[in-house]
Amino acid sequence: MRRRRRQKAGTTTWQHTRWDVVHTCGHEWTHDLSARRADQRAAFARWLAGRDCTDCWRAARQGDTATREKWLVARRAAEQTAATEWAKRFDMPTLEGPGNAVGWGERCRHQLVTSAHTALVTEGSWDEADWTELEEKARTVTRAGWWLDQREADGTDLPELLDAATESDRATENPYR
Ligand SMILES: [Zn+2]
Repeated sequence: MRRRRRQKAGTTTWQHTRWDVVHTCGHEWTHDLSARRADQRAAFARWLAGRDCTDCWRAARQGDTATREKWLVARRAAEQTAATEWAKRFDMPTLEGPGNAVGWGERCRHQLVTSAHTALVTEGSWDEADWTELEEKARTVTRAGWWLDQREADGTDLPELLDAATESDRATENPYR
């Protein structure tokens, strides 16, 4: 049996391909550096020693993804709650569309109408009567997909967009008409 020479990262030995590296996570791994040029192995082993081992790196990354996903889910839920409360308060109808599109469309509608109010009324020259008229129009567009399509739009564009909405974007039975 060949005795393996143990060599700490940072020391240079030519033709030495297996390096025991203590990673920042505390784990010690033997790395086969035969694929690297002999004169680069020490530097590479040092570089490895400055990082977590592969297992810990992967675990940390998965943890991050899980955290990020959890955060996204929580944020979406908060936005949905806000959109639902807003729709109730301003008498906005439930949107029509396939499964996920309804909730998403409602969040887009909430965001767009709110930013339109800020731009046109709060910061603009519109009075309440102008706004009430726009709100009426917004109520008639019940196709979730329409609101989804406008998700990148500016609040100031809402009047024009609503005017361009077609019959197929409006409720089949429209109580506001
Ligand atoms: Zn580790």
